[in-house]
Amino acid sequence: MSQTLQSVRGMNDILPDEAAFWELFEDSIRSWLKAYGYRPIRMPIVEPTPLFKRAIGEVTDIVEKEMYSFEDSLNGEQLTLRPEGTAGCVRALIQHNLAARQTQRLYYIGQMFRHERPQKGRYRQFHQVGVEAFGFDGPDVDAEMILMGARLWDDLGLDGIALQINSLGQPAERAEHRTALIAYLEQHIDLLDDDAKRRLHTNPLRILDTKNPALQALCAAAPKLIDYLGAESLAHFEGVQQILRDAGIPFTVNPRLVRGLDYYNLTVFEWVTDKLGAQGTVCAGGRYDGLVEQLGGKPTPACGFAMGVERLIALIKDSGGEPAAPVPDVYLVHQGEAAARLAFRVAEGLRDQGIDVLLHCGGGSFKSQMKKADGSGASFAVIIGDEEASTGEAQLKALRAEGVAQRKLKVDELAEAIIDHMIDSDEEE
Ligand code: ATP
Ligand code: MG
Repeated sequence: MSQTLQSVRGMNDILPDEAAFWELFEDSIRSWLKAYGYRPIRMPIVEPTPLFKRAIGEVTDIVEKEMYSFEDSLNGEQLTLRPEGTAGCVRALIQHNLAARQTQRLYYIGQMFRHERPQKGRYRQFHQVGVEAFGFDGPDVDAEMILMGARLWDDLGLDGIALQINSLGQPAERAEHRTALIAYLEQHIDLLDDDAKRRLHTNPLRILDTKNPALQALCAAAPKLIDYLGAESLAHFEGVQQILRDAGIPFTVNPRLVRGLDYYNLTVFEWVTDKLGAQGTVCAGGRYDGLVEQLGGKPTPACGFAMGVERLIALIKDSGGEPAAPVPDVYLVHQGEAAARLAFRVAEGLRDQGIDVLLHCGGGSFKSQMKKADGSGASFAVIIGDEEASTGEAQLKALRAEGVAQRKLKVDELAEAIIDHMIDSDEEE
């Protein structure tokens, strides 16, 4: 016997019960984004590898060790499964000249791929909702993006998601801080782990983002970037905080929040929960004013964030927010050849009227079909036997309501009767 094939490690199937939950989640995401004027964009899952190297930075976890990169065997092109969406979104913005005369508020929902060690809340294929705004340079958009998060947690019934913010300033300010940071870390070189030693002269800021507990104290006492920010950067940061205070959104300024991607400047933020263990960041983002130009476009201020869908869904489930599984309005039971043919016609006719129908397929006794009808959660069974088929009629049976007698109706009258019942039971609720 041949060995059964399994999905790739860290890449999960989302089975129907789970996927129904995902669709409801995505529905609420889409209406929330619409309320803030964001429009969808869909980019390819595969992009040229150099895009990510240039956008994310060569000395980052993602580019150094997490990308699924491969050579197209047909033409030798270097390709990568996208590890995040911002790079591709900016590429598309430039390629189609979207930011030429107008600002853009864009979003996407989809798979991302990172070769990480799979664990709870960390997968090799995972999903992000990405939100990006182009052409806005003030602190207002940064703050609006944070307010959006707060509203979403509320919409989803989630609490206890804490906001951390920081400012990374501008490149010149970072350069000055970098010199001071390297000098400090060199003084303590014996305490650094291999990763930190390797990054000392390439990307020392990222050492502060380490997850190694042994380095925490050292990092906590390191020179703080915020002390190197000039008046303009500080004013931008203060502008964001002012809007947050006005909106009553609590936050902590975390000077060690540096983010794992190189393209950020000024505002960065993360929403973190303590309910998901080590994988507690559900949403992260910030400003990346240099990226559009860096990738060959005209200078365009930009700001964005991404949410981890698996982590948010885990959190919703954790807080008991299981949505009701969608159920059909009607389960259509039928037996006999003539009945089967009529059943198809009836099912399509009901669907024409906006009624959701689960048509029984695969035969079986009336009794077993009725059991399935009950189990489906449908409000009604429509039952067609040989006798009904010969007269163009069907039995209508309410499965959920008490004291409603089963009735025989002309098939043309079914839709109206069902809709009347549905209206009545809506009014009773
Ligand atoms: P972490 O520090 O957890 O590795 P990150 O800084 O690499 O996160 P981002 O690149 O900012 O993550 O991605 C935004 C969000 O996407 C994260 O906050 C998280 O919710 C989610 N995310 C990132 N990587 C994964 C993954 N491998 N599996 C599941 N979700 C992920
Ligand atoms: Mg990561």
